[in-house]
Amino acid sequence: MPVYKAPVNDTLFVLNNVLGIDRYHNLPGFEDATPDMIEAIVSEAAKLAEEQLFPVNLSGDQEGCTRHDDATVTVPKGFKEAYDAYCQGGWLGLAVPAEYGGQGLPYTLHSAVGEYMSSANMALMMYPGLTQGAIAAILVHGSEEQKATYLPKMVEGTWSGTMNLTEPHCGTDLGLLRTKAVPNGDGSYKISGQKIFISAGEHSMTDNIIHLVLARIEGAPEGTKGISLFIVPKFMVGEDGSVGARNGVTCGAIEHKMGIHGNATCVMNYDEATGYLIGAENKGLAAMFVMMNEARLGVGLQGLSIAEIAYQNAANYARERIQGRSLSGVKAPDKKADPIIVHPDIRRSLLTIKAFTEAGRAFTLWTALQSDIAHRSGDEKEKQLADDLLGLMTPILKGVLTDKGFDHAVMAQQVYGGHGYIEEWGMSQYVRDARIAMIYEGANGIQALDLVGRKLGLNGGRAVMALFNEIGAFCEENREDEKMVVYTKGLKKGLNDLQASTMWFMQNAMAKPDNAGAGSTDYMHLFGLVVLGYMWAKMAKSANEALAAGTGDADFYQNKLLTGRFYMERIMPETALRKTRIEAGADTMMEMAAEAF
Ligand SMILES: Cc1cc2nc3c(=O)[nH]c(=O)nc-3n(C[C@H](O)[C@H](O)[C@H](O)COP(=O)(O)OP(=O)(O)OC[C@H]3O[C@@H](n4cnc5c(N)ncnc54)[C@H](O)[C@@H]3O)c2cc1C
Repeated sequence: MPVYKAPVNDTLFVLNNVLGIDRYHNLPGFEDATPDMIEAIVSEAAKLAEEQLFPVNLSGDQEGCTRHDDATVTVPKGFKEAYDAYCQGGWLGLAVPAEYGGQGLPYTLHSAVGEYMSSANMALMMYPGLTQGAIAAILVHGSEEQKATYLPKMVEGTWSGTMNLTEPHCGTDLGLLRTKAVPNGDGSYKISGQKIFISAGEHSMTDNIIHLVLARIEGAPEGTKGISLFIVPKFMVGEDGSVGARNGVTCGAIEHKMGIHGNATCVMNYDEATGYLIGAENKGLAAMFVMMNEARLGVGLQGLSIAEIAYQNAANYARERIQGRSLSGVKAPDKKADPIIVHPDIRRSLLTIKAFTEAGRAFTLWTALQSDIAHRSGDEKEKQLADDLLGLMTPILKGVLTDKGFDHAVMAQQVYGGHGYIEEWGMSQYVRDARIAMIYEGANGIQALDLVGRKLGLNGGRAVMALFNEIGAFCEENREDEKMVVYTKGLKKGLNDLQASTMWFMQNAMAKPDNAGAGSTDYMHLFGLVVLGYMWAKMAKSANEALAAGTGDADFYQNKLLTGRFYMERIMPETALRKTRIEAGADTMMEMAAEAF
């Protein structure tokens, strides 16, 4: 049976030592986030994840969701109780403004605890996760009346939310969508059409479900310019906020899928359902993007979460499983064989995952901090820089953490040998669950295109230049520090490859766009390697400082430095390979005729 222990110490190291979160006490919501308060919150979250969400993870995977003949959907046993515990603890509204029932705490803290929750039970956490995305969209684009009607119930978790974009013929290319909206004449609309793959589309854990639905108002332009966003409640909501008659939206089926079995993935049929426009007519994509950007950070976090729990179990297994003898002489003479953790190849796997999860955690929290600064700072310059970095990092965080999250779940499964393939050990579930994060919220190929095609050149490349300068300045400032040489040297080399590849795109992709498309996934990963390397260099600096000050657990900091060295020696060099691939351009891959594939 798998186990889970939330990495509280590591989170606190990133928040306090690396990010120095107390420096931001002047931002709204941060004044309450003192180190003691932060420790209390993450420890409480760890308890909830370990004791209430995790125990129903494996059983939830085995049982899955059931759709009944009356179109209702039952979630696995124990999910409702765990969901209620999560909501009653106030976790759903941790970072939502207090006026709507939230706690107004930093989004950074929300991300920190979100990692634990998704490690413990990714399928279950998607129910409140979708609600959080819907809350974000209503907060930014909803009218005052809509905010007052929907937000308090959604923040307390008695109503949940969904996002409805996908249709059978329309996934990535939302311009193809056909769901239509016909004005009723009283400000509301009749929504008709079919949406597929809708996560948390139907279930009975909440009193109401607030669907956010993309549709085309009759007569609106073709393509993405004619798309609007609507609120479609499962049950109509009275003026006093009471839940009334059933609206014309039903779950037609649930998908039988590879993983996240505890989350109901629904076909949703809209049959003249009453909907309310949110935001402006034909500006639905902009409104939905608020939700999608929030969700992309959440999905990136899922990649990290699954890699973390898979790693913890693989490390435990490697300490216990005995097979073969160490190449450098017997290590466990009292046993018939040594534990497999003595074998370099097993250590290679474990350290590769560890180097990824620890840097991934820092990357996630650093990006979340940019979001807080962008939304809460009063200093325009600081705000703009943070917003630039957030926009640039979003596709990298989503694409890299989920691609690597899956790879590392597989790597952890490999540590178990054949036992990793057997369901009761839990590793198979992690591999299956991690896979979807690479696909939804914009498949990772689309994240890479967003990075290369949109984010790089935005505002004349302002964001990317700012980041290159920041990383370059860090390397320069620490050049003389011999304890930092291994980290800054590796980082500088990676940065050089990234800058050269960026230049290559500027020179070769404008005239020949296929060059951009052909190199985009490699570029996204090259960027990810450098950003994770930057996180390692920052963590190494903080670890060295703590060791010099003689504060805290010296072993923790020594291991941190060792893992960072492993990253620089064994993972960072991949930047050269990525650069070579990018510079190969598109010619070979575009030459072959479609029939020849
Ligand atoms: C379990 C699950 C849950 C989901 N939850 C939700 C949900 O809650 N709400 C919702 O609205 N949707 C949801 N989805 C849908 C999901 O977001 C889509 O599946 C995804 O966006 C891809 O769309 P598609 O499947 O139609 O693939 P397609 O768009 O057909 O893409 C197929 C492949 O082609 C690539 N591709 C497409 N266009 C381009 C291009 N221009 N350039 C390069 N490559 C391209 C893609 O990267 C992909 O690899 C869910 C899906 C699943 C499986």
